[in-house]
Amino acid sequence: MNNKSTNQDRVAIINAQIVTVDKQGSVIEDGSLVVGADGAIREIASGKISHTASEVIDARGAIVMPGLINTHTHLGMTLFRGLGDDMSLEDFLARLMPAEIKVLNHEAVRAGTEIAALESLLGGITTSLDMYYLPDAALEVAKSSRMRIQTGPNFLESDGPEPLKFNDRLAWATKWLEVPRDSLGSTGWVAPHSTYLLNEDQLRTLAALAAKYEARIHVHAAETVGEMQLVAKRHGGRTPIQVLADTNLLRRSVLAHGVHLNDDDIALIASNSATVVHCPASNYKLASGTANFGSATSRREYRARHRRPCFR
Ligand SMILES: [Zn+2]
Repeated sequence: MNNKSTNQDRVAIINAQIVTVDKQGSVIEDGSLVVGADGAIREIASGKISHTASEVIDARGAIVMPGLINTHTHLGMTLFRGLGDDMSLEDFLARLMPAEIKVLNHEAVRAGTEIAALESLLGGITTSLDMYYLPDAALEVAKSSRMRIQTGPNFLESDGPEPLKFNDRLAWATKWLEVPRDSLGSTGWVAPHSTYLLNEDQLRTLAALAAKYEARIHVHAAETVGEMQLVAKRHGGRTPIQVLADTNLLRRSVLAHGVHLNDDDIALIASNSATVVHCPASNYKLASGTANFGSATSRREYRARHRRPCFR
């Protein structure tokens, strides 16, 4: 291979509105962007850029921007779209979960994840934090679609479609976390479904598993009024956030939904550097409520401590 071909730019995009998402929030009208031989962006500028790429994309009328990140999803669940509408979360899960156990296997999860990945990529989403059964299937899709999928073993009360009882699932998850995988996927996550579908011993065990492999926690928390009641009943009057804190699962965790938080919960989230990922479309569909973004004081304290938004 000669030097010329080695250094040839990969692709040039011209006539684009480029949303840079830099610190100043710069937007370049009628801009050009060149991806160099190494796959990294070599240059962005207004107007034309000289380049050696054979592939040139005319993006007139389109936006070029960094990929969007879906911070909470169940990609493989796409197969069950339309299974239930106008239902509470609890009624929906009661219908969904037996159906999942009946029909899911590796091939089915891969098919559902492929559909979700295609839809995501068409919508500009290039990275997803996924929580679903049989995560190897999602990692296969990450490889074939080039979408980044962050995932890991998930845990809930039932044996799931695998099927694996909690201790067997734990043994499988331990092995799973030990194996390095494709760079597009990640093994750095453990996903307890929620504090209403796991008991305190199980939650503590999962905290220890995550700590052993330095995995991050991805968990549903404070999504609906029904969940708050279930958790209070199951865990001695505590909130989901209190239970997560007491079982060592809150530290640097990603909390899906976080609709029904009180100011004490928000202070705990802040002091544990956990992150709430807001899911407004899901909350509207299920009429789960409107998220509490905390008092002005708690938001100010959080920003002062972390220098980043409380909710993102
Ligand atoms: Zn979810």
